[in-house]
Amino acid sequence: MNIEDQKVVDFHYTLTNEQGETVESSRERDPMSYLHGANNIIPGLEQAMNGRAAGDTFEVTVQPADAYGERQEANVQRIPLKRLGKIPRPRPGQILGLQTQKGPVQVTVIKVGRFNVDVDANHPLAGQALTFDVEIVGVRDATEEEISHGHAHGPGGHQHD
Ligand code: ZN
Repeated sequence: MNIEDQKVVDFHYTLTNEQGETVESSRERDPMSYLHGANNIIPGLEQAMNGRAAGDTFEVTVQPADAYGERQEANVQRIPLKRLGKIPRPRPGQILGLQTQKGPVQVTVIKVGRFNVDVDANHPLAGQALTFDVEIVGVRDATEEEISHGHAHGPGGHQHD
């Protein structure tokens, strides 16, 4: 069975950044499951999956435009510490969840001053070409429920309470 829309794909992957550092890997846990054609994974990886079958292994390098996008300098902002409300004084490198007019946003703390904090709302992998080392573990038909939800269910997929 080959990968196409409305198939659920189980796969293992190791993700490395441009510096050749391993960012994350599924090897120590369940394979990841996703519903093909439903934008569950980054576009460049989904495209590389097309037509593959269980047992296939491949490596693909995805440019930022097909991964987490380019870095936007406008996403680096200085905000008053008091906007953090009850969050204790942050440290550089810490990830914070901020409430904004557009909803909750995850930011990385860059610098902490006396009254202000510089935060970066870019995705940590924005602006990077990402290399995926992939092993397709299984391909199956999606259930009607998965298709209506727009994601895969099961151990490596979406788990409802
Ligand atoms: Zn669901």
